[in-house]
Amino acid sequence: MIVALVEHDGGVVSEPSLQTLTLGRRMAERHGEPLAALIVGSDAGPVIDALAAHGVATVHHAVDDRLDRYAPEAWAMCLVDLMERTGPSAVVAAGTDRGNEVMARVGARTGLPVAANCTEVEPGEPGTPYLVTRLRWGGSLLEDARLHGDVKLLTVAPHVVRAEEGPAVGEGSVEEFSPKLQDADFRVQVARQEGRPAGKVSLPEARVVVGGGRGVGGPEGFGPLEELAELLGGVVGCSRVVTSLGWRPHTDQVGQTGVRIAPDVYIACGISGAIQHMVGAKGAKRILVVNTDPQAPILAHADYAIIGDVQQVVPALVSAIREAKGR
Ligand code: FAD
Repeated sequence: MIVALVEHDGGVVSEPSLQTLTLGRRMAERHGEPLAALIVGSDAGPVIDALAAHGVATVHHAVDDRLDRYAPEAWAMCLVDLMERTGPSAVVAAGTDRGNEVMARVGARTGLPVAANCTEVEPGEPGTPYLVTRLRWGGSLLEDARLHGDVKLLTVAPHVVRAEEGPAVGEGSVEEFSPKLQDADFRVQVARQEGRPAGKVSLPEARVVVGGGRGVGGPEGFGPLEELAELLGGVVGCSRVVTSLGWRPHTDQVGQTGVRIAPDVYIACGISGAIQHMVGAKGAKRILVVNTDPQAPILAHADYAIIGDVQQVVPALVSAIREAKGR
């Protein structure tokens, strides 16, 4: 059996978890094993119904009142408990902050190695090491490695596997269980969550991202970027310099220590294109650069470029789009 840890938000399975289920299903098919999922928390009902379409034969639902809020150690102990009872050959999770955090703790608890951020997995014969390819150094190199351990623990790099449904397994079954949890497992716990303003898409899911860097000039310089993003149905992101200067919140930061985006178009304004930034923008299908410096490193990643001042180019784009839309 292969177990996939499924992350969800208010009953909607996250895209990286769907991608993980796709990879997990391929691994399970390879060995003729069933694919199971672990869901944690009490609001998992709608998720359970959706998982059969992704080939999940059994959904293990960890139930405990204290699990309503994310607690990494407690989630890890849910997985450890499930592993002890069901003896899977592998456990997979999304290579998100949460997935990597939980799996690191599972590895520490069980003494098993963890391969994080895999892009490809070759399971080989049962009982032998897996061959994995994984992102290292913030995605700047790919590493081929052998993953040992009686139970293979790995996470799947977000947005490298396309999420695909099926074959469906009929209705699938649900097994609720009460994991063995101690109060100490809740020492680290989410204390508060701030909802997104209604109707606003999140940075990782946005089809259009308008990014701003130091070249935007200050917090007020983001006004025209907000306008452009709004016109295109997108959202604003930024570089780390911008968050370090306090111009935008860290939640807007794209990059190695920020959010990974995968939009159809990334409009990067006044951003130099440091590797730590570009790691987060790797998933973008097209990149339009606005920069005064024709030698800026980001030009090497650009599909289109406008060499010019953000403060002139972006308002000009806004008015051209408004005119085209008749607004
Ligand atoms: P700069 O490098 O200063 O570039 C500004 C650009 O704006 C230049 O290309 C300039 O030509 C252009 N410009 C200036 N004025 C204008 C104008 N009026 N109009 C148009 N263009 C103009 N960075 C991230 O972004 N995300 C991360 O997650 C991240 N993680 C990091 C992790 C580590 C461990 C480290 C060491 C660094 C990390 N960084 C990250 C920082 C990164 O190395 C760069 O310092 C940062 O991305 C640079 O931000 P910037 O492009 O906005 O600024």
